[in-house]
Amino acid sequence: MELLITLVEKGLRGHSPTREEALAVLATSDDDLLDVVAAAGKVRRKWFGRRVKLNYLVNLKSGLCPEDCSYCSQRLGSTADILTYSWLKPHEAAAVAEAGTKGGAKRVCLVASGRGPTDRDVERVASTIEAIKQSSPEVEICACLGLLSPQQAARLRDAGVHAYSHNLNTSEDQYGKICTTHGFADRVETVRRSREAGMSACSGLIAGMGESDADLVDVVFALRDLDVDSVPVNFLIPFPGTPLSRTWELTPQRCLRILAMVRFVCPDVEVRLAGGREIHLRGLQPLALHIVNSIFLGDYLTSEGQPGKADLEMIKDAGFVVEEPGSATLPEHRGGTAPTQPGEHRDAPATEPARTDLVTPRRRGAGTDLAPNA
Ligand code: SF4
Repeated sequence: MELLITLVEKGLRGHSPTREEALAVLATSDDDLLDVVAAAGKVRRKWFGRRVKLNYLVNLKSGLCPEDCSYCSQRLGSTADILTYSWLKPHEAAAVAEAGTKGGAKRVCLVASGRGPTDRDVERVASTIEAIKQSSPEVEICACLGLLSPQQAARLRDAGVHAYSHNLNTSEDQYGKICTTHGFADRVETVRRSREAGMSACSGLIAGMGESDADLVDVVFALRDLDVDSVPVNFLIPFPGTPLSRTWELTPQRCLRILAMVRFVCPDVEVRLAGGREIHLRGLQPLALHIVNSIFLGDYLTSEGQPGKADLEMIKDAGFVVEEPGSATLPEHRGGTAPTQPGEHRDAPATEPARTDLVTPRRRGAGTDLAPNA
């Protein structure tokens, strides 16, 4: 397909497609799906090899938010059956973070519900970072605390925050439909402030909230224009008790096309498969690893993900390797080092340890009194 040849040529040079080309990726048919994934995979491997970065979420403060983001189970008026609690103590957060780093996470993302932190909250987070660094000195810390003042951004950087995460979520045009208590411009401003303070900017989107293809392309181009270093791509988790609880408009194929579009627009940027992957990609999750170079390990803020062990097995089975702590994620020209880390060009070993745990003798159906498996 001519389109894909063009996109790969541009992606390998670190260039973005035009808006029309990005829209055309979203309009490709299921017949072309594997070609789209393969093309995005070439761009992914050029900049990130076969490495997968693992990120681990620690929800420092859950629920009871005064904002009204309609996709969020922690929003004002949410009746979602989620855990609600106030700030974890530093040692409690450090224990959760340590579970993530022991599971292979290279980055720990410290998240708190709310419009934005008070200065006291920022100090709590600084103490939490200190506690985490005692047990995991190499871990990258990302903070995600809402709208920030320039002074708070500077304080977080000084406290050891490597990256600040604040999603744009959807296009500027669509933003007023999903949230009325703050605006798109507020979010853009916080992303800018985090960069200006010297933190790596992490900002992404949520797909499946009633947006058009044009909205998706708009938000991804807005992220590219902000020059963010990582782009988490979430697929709406329609929580009962939230306004979008009955919004279910994604297919696994559409999710892959959205991921591919993001990869082409942001070829040399960390593209992270984020919330909703299990419920929307389902059996196609391993294909997504050919497009993204980063995922969340384990659970999300208020919902459970697949077991961390299953994530690690999926990565290995699909022929990818977990990125090691202390190594760089981004290509050299974006502040990282060249992608020549262990496992980069390594093929899978010819033999595997015996996995007898995967073999289950049949004890149902023909020859038994139990119902067959169908
Ligand atoms: S996304 Fe953040 S600001 Fe919006 S309702 Fe949820 S916790 Fe509050």
